Formats: sequence, C-alpha cells, structure tokens
Amino acid sequence: MTLETNIHRIPFHRAAVGEEEIAALAEVIRSGWLTMGSKTIRFEEEFARYVNAPDAVAVSSCTAALHLALDAIGLRPGDEVLVPTTTFTATAEVVTYLGGRPVLVDIVPGTLNLDPADAEIRITARTKAIIPVHLAGQPCNMDAIHALAQKHKLRVIEDAAHALPASFHGNPVGSLSEFTAFSFYATKTITTGEGGMVATTNSDAAARMRMMRLHGIEKDGWKRYTAEGSWYYEVHQAGFKYNFTDLQAAIGLVQLSKCDAMLQAREKIAERYTTEFKKLDALETPTVLDDCTSAWHLYILRLHLEKLSINRDEFIQKLSEAGIGASVHFIPLHLQPYYRKAFGYRIGDFPVAEAEYRRSLSLPIYPTMREDEVEYVISIVGKIVHDCERPLPVGRYVA
Ligand SMILES: *Cc1c(COP(=O)(O)O)cnc(C)c1O
Repeated sequence: MTLETNIHRIPFHRAAVGEEEIAALAEVIRSGWLTMGSKTIRFEEEFARYVNAPDAVAVSSCTAALHLALDAIGLRPGDEVLVPTTTFTATAEVVTYLGGRPVLVDIVPGTLNLDPADAEIRITARTKAIIPVHLAGQPCNMDAIHALAQKHKLRVIEDAAHALPASFHGNPVGSLSEFTAFSFYATKTITTGEGGMVATTNSDAAARMRMMRLHGIEKDGWKRYTAEGSWYYEVHQAGFKYNFTDLQAAIGLVQLSKCDAMLQAREKIAERYTTEFKKLDALETPTVLDDCTSAWHLYILRLHLEKLSINRDEFIQKLSEAGIGASVHFIPLHLQPYYRKAFGYRIGDFPVAEAEYRRSLSLPIYPTMREDEVEYVISIVGKIVHDCERPLPVGRYVA
C-alpha cells in the first residue's frame, strides 16, 4: 500500500511549536528580562479575555494552579474534596498538600466524566470542594455539578487541563466556576513547555493566589526586581515558588493566538475518526454532549471487548507494531498503590471507571498530524478490528 510506505511512525503526540515561538522566545532573551514580568501580565490578560474570565493567574503548572485554588478557599487538614477516580494523579494529590483527603468518585459511562449522583452519596460534613475534570476536553455536565455544589455548599475548582478551548451551553470553560485550572504542559492543547493558569471569578482569591505563587510576598512583589520598583517588600505568608516566566509567556502568547486554529485541526481529525469508526460494531466513539464543544485534547476510543478476540493491551500492541503511538487515559486512581494504601481503596470500588478503563485507548490527535497519517491510523484500526473480530456464537445467528 503506497500509503504505508510514506509513514514510518506516528507518535502519540507532537507539540505544535515552531518558528513563531522561537522568534518570540528570542525577543524575550534579547530583552534581558527572563522571569515573571510584563509579558506574563499580558499573557494573563489575553488568556482571561479568551476564556471570558474576569481574571487569570499564571503559574508554573496546572498542579500548582489546583494547589493555589485549594489554598485560596482555605482548605484545612481533614477537609474532603471530591475528585473523579478517572484522572491524572495531580487532580487528587494537591488535596493532600494541604492535609485534606481526596474522596474519589465514579464516572458516567458516556463522557467518562465525574458522576454527580455518585459524588452526592460521598458527601460528608467535611466535604469542602469538588474538582470536576473535563476528560479529553469534553465538558462535564456543569449544570448538575453547580446544582450539587450549591445544595451542599461546595466550592467548585474545575480541572481544565484538557479543556482549552471548550464550552458548555455556549460559555467557555474558564468562565463557568469560581476557579478553573489549565495546563500548558508539553502535551496539552497549548504549551509553554511547562506552565499553568487559574482563571477565577473571585478577585480576593486572585490576589491571594498572586501572593502565594511568589513566596507569600505582597502583590506586585516581583516589581522589587525592576529599576522603578522599590527594594522594600513584605512577606505575608509562607508561600510557594510557583511563578510563571516571561520566557513561557512569550511562547504562550503565540500558542494562544493559534488556539482556535489548532482546535479546528483536531476537530477535523476527530470527525474523520468518528465517521469511520462508527461503521465498525466493535468500536465505540466518544460521546459529545448536546450544546457543548470539546477541546479534543484526546480521542478516547472504546472497544466492545465481547466483539473482539483481543483485549485493549493487545490492541495497543498491534497499533505499536504498525508504528502508531497510543496511550490510556487514565488508570483509575483507586487502582494505584498510593491511593489504595493511603485511603483504603480497592479493586471493585468504582465499577464504571474500571470497566471503561479496561476498554479505552487514546489515539493520536494533534494539529501537526498530516491527512495521510490520519487515514493511516483509520486503516490500521480498521484492519485490527477486521482481523480480530470475534464471530458471533452459532446460536445467535438469525436464520
Ligand atoms: C496534565 C494534567 C494535569 C497536570 O498538569 P501540569 O501542568 O503538568 O501540572 C492535571 N490534571 C489533568 C487531568 C492532566 O491531564
């Protein structure tokens, strides 16, 4: 097949960065101002405008963003925070930074996002907050989550590490809740290498997070480094070293300007995948909720294992043999040694998350994927399904 001869390997991810980012970075280096400064402020302002949030605070990672948001709501030792079990460990580990307890929640089979009904039964007098994760970029049902939060007086901190840009009922993720944390890690939808942002509607919390991201030094403490700034500063808290840098901001500004175009490229790939994979009985394509747009950070394909003679791991192995990188998002946290040991979770605790985990795999989806690469992935997935389809048991044939 001529298609195959042009393709050596399709990695699971390639960052979409290039000459524009290099030029922006060079400009910052030549300016001599490398750490947090005016470029960071501009990036915060443009980011806040982009997600329609009143304010946004740039930090060193999404993990730091989540930590600072929990600090800003005054989370205390012994407090509980609801977190879906199907997420990256960062979402839950930050709760332990403040002595809190992450309380894991099962997911819904459709979007693979946190199940509000399962969350409700796990609420106690100590539950202070909920951290919904927009898995793969597909927004959670935020109406249900906000109703639950209101009913039980919970603070809402969205983990939007996958969800730039995404929208729920026409409103961008970042404008929906008191706090929304984003990631600019190398594999995310926009990247600054490492980096994160908290969008917030709470101006007091924004001031607290700005102070805590830089050693608990009062607002605009970074100005102490500038010629026009004073040498005087005050330390108000034992803060953190979570600040952003102008090097990151320079890359981030370029990436933000391409964010819509990069989404369109991912949407096109998702559409091609879904059109073709819908034709195959052994596959289940991602659920997209009505009146929502996904960031399509990931394309999570689910296998109807009963229709295949191979399991998910073998499916990924066959993709790998054909030169296609795939991954799994995520191994549920309650199956991880730390969460089992620290909080007593066991296999069987979250049946939906476990069943979906066993049959899920993530396919390559990124703006620099060429059309022939997308078609190659489609043809190989089709071939694996065709080769490994389990025949129906004799008794089930209809005469
Ligand atoms: C990547 C990721 C994070 C952490 O992002 P960092 O910027 O690397 O700290 C948090 N939550 C989810 C769901 C992620 O995928």
